[in-house]
Amino acid sequence: MAGDYLRVKCGDCENEQIVFQKAASVISCAVCGTTLAVPTGGKAEIEHEIVETVEAR
Ligand SMILES: [Zn+2]
Repeated sequence: MAGDYLRVKCGDCENEQIVFQKAASVISCAVCGTTLAVPTGGKAEIEHEIVETVEAR
């Protein structure tokens, strides 16, 4: 299934990080710790710029 992972760019430090689109817990930036994604029960709510969609293989 395509679109399971997203490359998200942190708006605070510009770190790019792969985020699971259906994350079950809050995802924080590995560099500065700001919140990148919040779980909603389905697709996570991404609070920063989505650079691209990464297909799962
Ligand atoms: Zn950051």
